[in-house]
Amino acid sequence: MLEAKNFMEVGMAFHGHKCPAMPLGLRAGVAAMNVLGVDRAQDKELHVICETGKGHAAGCFLDGIMTATGCTYGKSNIEKLYYNKMAFTLIDVASQRSVRVSLKPEFFGNMMQSPFVKQRQDGVLPQDVPAEIADPLVEKVLSMPEAAFLDIGPITSVDFKSGQGTFTTDCCSQCGERVFSNKLVDGPEGKICLGCQAKNVA
Ligand SMILES: [Zn+2]
Ligand SMILES: [Zn+2]
Repeated sequence: MLEAKNFMEVGMAFHGHKCPAMPLGLRAGVAAMNVLGVDRAQDKELHVICETGKGHAAGCFLDGIMTATGCTYGKSNIEKLYYNKMAFTLIDVASQRSVRVSLKPEFFGNMMQSPFVKQRQDGVLPQDVPAEIADPLVEKVLSMPEAAFLDIGPITSVDFKSGQGTFTTDCCSQCGERVFSNKLVDGPEGKICLGCQAKNVA
């Protein structure tokens, strides 16, 4: 069984400040991985479909999910639906199984009344929230039972295909920069990149 606290150090370094919502994402990510019986993605073994948006706490929560699962924007094994819900689905690509995990509505509601959120509402930056407020909340998030804050759905079969990248490159006939060939389009004098196409239209 994976444990969220083992991802705290890398999560803190990646996320940039100590807050309760990043560890909450670690807990949720680890819960989903344990249900599916999978390890952190080294490449694209896992895929996350996240329902969060840009709202407060949502970005922190998703940074925790990315840290735990190894599903990152760099590897493109993650997508964001902007439903502004604290929920996500984790897909195990090899077994074509998925599980959806969400914050319990009551917990989510209480969380938005926490002393950390009060500070944020008063305009305090997350990195400036005093440790005596942030630390106990983080400790609580890392130690409370999953049933106190997570709804974990049933394992569901999916029909999911990972996108395949290309190893072929070519140069744009307009700017001369090298591009992966599957994103070159027809231009006035040969193949051009999407950046040049956008400039030509503007
Ligand atoms: Zn945060
Ligand atoms: Zn170009």
